[in-house]
Amino acid sequence: MELTTLREEARDLLDETVALRRTLHRWPELGNDLPVTRENVLAALEGLPLQLTLHETTSGIAAMLDGGKPGPTVLLRGDMDALPLHEDTDLEFESAIDGQMHACGHDTHTAMLVGAAKLLSARRDEIPGRVLFMFQPGEEGFAGAQFMLDEGLLDVSAAADGSESPITGAYAIHITSNLPSGWVASRGGTIMASADTMLITVTGRGGHASQPHNALDPIPIACEIVQALQTMVTRTIDVFDPAVVTVGRISAGTTNNVIPETAEILGTIRTVSERTRGKVRDGIRRVAEGVAAAHDAQVKVEFNDGYPVTVNNPGSADFALEVAKEIVGEPATVRFPNPIMGAEDFSYVLNRLPGAMMFLGGTPLDKNPATAAPNHSNRVMFEEEAMVNGIALYSGMALRHLSGLPT
Ligand SMILES: [Zn+2]
Ligand SMILES: [Zn+2]
Repeated sequence: MELTTLREEARDLLDETVALRRTLHRWPELGNDLPVTRENVLAALEGLPLQLTLHETTSGIAAMLDGGKPGPTVLLRGDMDALPLHEDTDLEFESAIDGQMHACGHDTHTAMLVGAAKLLSARRDEIPGRVLFMFQPGEEGFAGAQFMLDEGLLDVSAAADGSESPITGAYAIHITSNLPSGWVASRGGTIMASADTMLITVTGRGGHASQPHNALDPIPIACEIVQALQTMVTRTIDVFDPAVVTVGRISAGTTNNVIPETAEILGTIRTVSERTRGKVRDGIRRVAEGVAAAHDAQVKVEFNDGYPVTVNNPGSADFALEVAKEIVGEPATVRFPNPIMGAEDFSYVLNRLPGAMMFLGGTPLDKNPATAAPNHSNRVMFEEEAMVNGIALYSGMALRHLSGLPT
């Protein structure tokens, strides 16, 4: 299937894509309940030959396009939620809601996915299979993808003609302000990290600061645990399958002459493999319990599960990078040498289906990718022209995947 005209077809959709993106940008919403965003997306999809499923536990939308020929289903993901921060870009379409901003570019993802739905609808007759457009809320820490999976996103019915049409692949695109506009990047294997929270509570016995022998001071014990955690990481974790354990907050006590009863250690754990993720957790528990036991104190170790490691199927990533080369050219197609230490809930989808998470460059043309305000910054901006390549890439990955070329 020829992809050469995809960029032209996407360019014809740029004006309306920019308009939608700016509307979404002006009215950012947080978490899994995005009523205004959902209305805007539904209005933009109106008139397309899509079978819509409005999710009930979240504002997620699943939109199915039946192609003109039988074949499997491919999933394309775009996330829709914003972040809780004040915008300082001075853009004419900057956020109208104080304290909420589309600082991760999810407004561009949603607009590009709508663009791909339009482009592919126009090519419907030649599509051998189906395309499932996943508009998901709650990527920024609310596990919106998991909610959509739990609500049956992947339990697709047979195609309109009655033939079986299982989902055989899933692709997502994430824009970044630190890659030249229009470039595409990815890698096989781990693409993003896991991000878990640890909370360690050391309990001793409170008392008078002048008589520590009559108390059990949790503060030096907590300090020993923090030091021992760093030794545990550097001495037990393979540097080629790394982990980061950072204690971001220690809290204990109220004043100079009181020994408190408890001390709290709060931190984050990042890993790039599930194996190391488990190993680090075991190590943290062992170290905390061992150090506390040495001093006769009690300790409670709690983990709050963040997103799992995001792992691209190597074949799918190679395939998607090949598609990218055809669409944006070889010089603008990059293979990342390393994973990115942020986390993504597309990981839940990639735990269920082979697929790949792709990055799209969106550095404003007058900025340097190395120094441009990054995603999540109050000043981040994206080059809207890059959305042409994003729409074409979504569409190209779907068309090629369904036409059965290398996966
Ligand atoms: Zn983000
Ligand atoms: Zn994001």
